Amino acid sequence: MSLPKVMILGTGGTVAGTGVSSHETSYTSGQLTVSKLIESLPGIETVADLQCEQVVNIGSQDMGEEIWFKLAARINELLAQDDIDGIVITHGTDTMEETAWFLNLVVKSSKPVVLTGAMRPATALGADGPANMFAGVVVAADKASHGRGVMVVMNDKVHDARDVTKLSTTAVDTFCSPNFGVLGHVHNGTVDYQRSPQRKHTTFSKFDLKGIDHLPRVGIVYAHASGSSDVVDALVDAEFDGIVHAGLGNGNIHHEVLSGLTDARLKGVQVVRSSRAQVGATTEDAEVDDDRYEFIASGSLNAQKARILLQLGLTRTQDYRELREMFRSY
Ligand code: ASP
Repeated sequence: MSLPKVMILGTGGTVAGTGVSSHETSYTSGQLTVSKLIESLPGIETVADLQCEQVVNIGSQDMGEEIWFKLAARINELLAQDDIDGIVITHGTDTMEETAWFLNLVVKSSKPVVLTGAMRPATALGADGPANMFAGVVVAADKASHGRGVMVVMNDKVHDARDVTKLSTTAVDTFCSPNFGVLGHVHNGTVDYQRSPQRKHTTFSKFDLKGIDHLPRVGIVYAHASGSSDVVDALVDAEFDGIVHAGLGNGNIHHEVLSGLTDARLKGVQVVRSSRAQVGATTEDAEVDDDRYEFIASGSLNAQKARILLQLGLTRTQDYRELREMFRSY
């Protein structure tokens, strides 16, 4: 029987990073090529038939829209081929959740797409990259992974792109799905699923990058005690199309910031209320009357993911009610 065919797309990150010492934190991301990385996966030849391509080789702090468009186009092209069964993307952990969420909304295939990486560079003692890549290939090669949207596989856990977030700056077990828990686990070279994502993704998503070469501009304003509307005003002056407010608690807003956001909305800038709290949903019409201000509540999307959904939403409509519906269904 022939093995599943998995393509590994390299983008860099700590998984491809090297340092001068095996135990100190100083290193540089994106130094090794993905073809070099797959040499450290003993036994992978029994799991999948691998091919690889280098898309970029960067620290994911430099990840952005231009590379996302390139990645999405290549993934859609590859997954349309009969001889590709799944894709693994090696990626830095800093913005992995954002790339995963973006792809979850624009990939047009039910075949598995998995992002993985490492917290320790390839030259470190106990480097976690090889085990994560191995587990990523296991997930991408498994038929049971079809139709689950884009996933992040780290530390033997399989996360939904929508919920996953990086929690710790340095811990190996940094990724968690704080609201709904993991989709499954990888044990003994197989994946054990416990649940499926319920919101729209991939083949059910109406977002399409065809004919688009950039996204609307959406900024994030991080809330704190003693608020002022200066940052909001600066985004409006710079002609941003939307603002996500990473608010206090259940998306609450200091009264001075509220007045800035109200003005922004009157000038046509879309406003999403999210939270700087990492767990729980920003619910509609709690302490802030969203209908009155025409604000949108982010639900259980964190601010960085709400930003991406608003960007994609704004490629289709300027109507806040339609955008609000998107936040209810994606
Ligand atoms: N700065 C690195 C990156 O995101 C961190 C990592 O990969 O863990 O590329």
